[in-house]
Amino acid sequence: MTRLLVAFDADDTLWHNEPYYLQARQRFADLLKDYGQPEVVSAALDGIEIANVQVYGYGIKSFTLSMIETALTFTDHRASGEIIAGIVALGREMLSAQVPLFEDVEMILAELSRSYELLLVTKGDLLEQENKVLRSGLLSFFRHIEIVREKTPLVYQALIERFGVPLQNFVMVGNSLKSDILPVLAIGGKAVYIPYVTTWSHEQVSDLGNTQGCYELQSLRDLPALLEYLTNQTAVSLTP
Ligand SMILES: [Mg+2]
Repeated sequence: MTRLLVAFDADDTLWHNEPYYLQARQRFADLLKDYGQPEVVSAALDGIEIANVQVYGYGIKSFTLSMIETALTFTDHRASGEIIAGIVALGREMLSAQVPLFEDVEMILAELSRSYELLLVTKGDLLEQENKVLRSGLLSFFRHIEIVREKTPLVYQALIERFGVPLQNFVMVGNSLKSDILPVLAIGGKAVYIPYVTTWSHEQVSDLGNTQGCYELQSLRDLPALLEYLTNQTAVSLTP
């Protein structure tokens, strides 16, 4: 049996996410326009946000705390209540925003769910990501939703073992080399990289290393054909 277990990243793989953060960064810089140039404020926020991942994890609540911290830094701790209220409102707005799905994503997942077991593997804040999956309307296509703090080789290894499939039957699909592709290649799995127009600096990698088992596509629309090819490959490799 060569049925593939296909795991999907969510943010910027099935729906747009990074543009919301870019917009929020601009609006945040606007709130602080009396204290610094937008590019400088935005770069400072990025630095504080990345440092805070270790403390608060990923997600909008963490991002909101980072905006408050950046505002305090730029105003020498004199940020007005109005600025803080503006930041909190920005965070709340992001938490309930629409989930703008990629074009044809429902059709593609419906098609794939007939031939493969589909998982959703996303990292970040549990409540936030659960709500987002519910708002997306995509829940029914997945056998299981896994929300993890960080996507490491060990996390993927444990997931594959839990589902009891041979490593060669596991495929991860995502837009982040750092989170979706490299940790899967590190354990000898297959990964499908579908780049998004923008990537958060924290997710960028400079050294790809060994890319065996990595496939790059321009669009999710090309995935059904690739999975069919991988199914045949797996069948050949299992033939004695
Ligand atoms: Mg992503």
